[in-house]
Amino acid sequence: MNVLVINCGSSSLKYQLIDMDGEKVLAKGLVERIGIEGSLLKHEKTGLDKLVIEENLKNHKDAINLVLKTLLDAKYGAVKSLDEIDAIGHRVVHGGEKFACSVVINDEVIDTMKENIGLAPLHNPPNIIGIEACKEILPDVPMVGVFDTAFHQTMPPVSYIYPLPYELYEEMKIRRYGFHGTSHKYVSERVADLTGKSLEGTKMVTCHLGNGASLTAIKDGCSFDTSMGMTPLEGLVMGTRCGDIDPAIVTFLMDKQDMTAEQVDNLMNKKSGVLGISGVSNDFRDIEAEAEKGNKRAQLALDKFAYTVKKYIGSYAAAMGGLDYIVFTAGLGENSSSARKEICDGLEFLGVEIDDEKNKTRGKEAEISKDGSKVKVFVIPTNEEVVIARDTKEFTSK
Ligand code: AMP
Repeated sequence: MNVLVINCGSSSLKYQLIDMDGEKVLAKGLVERIGIEGSLLKHEKTGLDKLVIEENLKNHKDAINLVLKTLLDAKYGAVKSLDEIDAIGHRVVHGGEKFACSVVINDEVIDTMKENIGLAPLHNPPNIIGIEACKEILPDVPMVGVFDTAFHQTMPPVSYIYPLPYELYEEMKIRRYGFHGTSHKYVSERVADLTGKSLEGTKMVTCHLGNGASLTAIKDGCSFDTSMGMTPLEGLVMGTRCGDIDPAIVTFLMDKQDMTAEQVDNLMNKKSGVLGISGVSNDFRDIEAEAEKGNKRAQLALDKFAYTVKKYIGSYAAAMGGLDYIVFTAGLGENSSSARKEICDGLEFLGVEIDDEKNKTRGKEAEISKDGSKVKVFVIPTNEEVVIARDTKEFTSK
């Protein structure tokens, strides 16, 4: 069975065609600048050089048509006919409370996704546009929606309720949802594979540390708490997002600086985080390089980031009543040994002991804790696409 995985952003589209027999990636790529001058497709077929196609793409339908044409190409393609695409799996950012697991997409599901737009105004519309474009081009191919929020629907009320008037939860669904669910799910399940042990009775913190970053407390294999909230702004210090701040700062800025709600939202989402503190970049590689040259603000940004992750790990260990595993994943988590070290330093009282030699690893699965460490610490590259493909296979064969 071949599953096409699609992840639509506002002006981009990532795709992978996966043969589920052995979960082999046949081809993958990225379309950028959809609807903007200079749109292009970068395509990779396993074993061949990268193919770049520059073509004017007005909208996501044009982009999907180009992806399908490329997948049919005699040299760079992966299928001879579109009939060989058996199902399509779509990443959808916000599933609200209605979608606690993946779902086969029909008109009713699309309507419910549209009702959730208010909860993720930046992310959900492009996801829906991608779904509607695929429906138009390939009306007979079954499609499945896989939600970033779904894995976290097991959180207990004490984790997801905000201390606001309860009516705001009942009437407006203001609560913690959490994101990066497919990533947290994937790496936690890999821990079960790597240790050969069930997750029943275990307590784990998974650290998805990329440009967007979130931590999840996972008890018995289920999400128990997570750092992102109603939106992906809450929680850790991120590339450009502020994470947790005193909410009174919002009204203070509006009042003292005459800023509109939109301007404050833009400041907190695009100009804050490690970019805001360092003034250097939102990319940790640039900040690490500047800090090494003695840039104090760059060092402060790195320290604040690691300190916040450490605080969350400690609070989740307390909330779950113990800790057995920590997992690092995503761009920074998979690649930066210095960030992992700074985060784990001082957690020895919880039984976390990093092996400096093993911690030199980059971008591949490894255990990085010392042999006798009570808490086992892993680096596990995430693979959200394979989770989407697996769910697509499972839900379309039901
Ligand atoms: P992601 O959002 O998962 O694609 O992660 C992207 C972020 O990971 C980048 O912005 C970098 O800050 C960080 N990153 C990737 N590779 C490295 C590396 N080798 N060292 C430090 N940070 C890295």
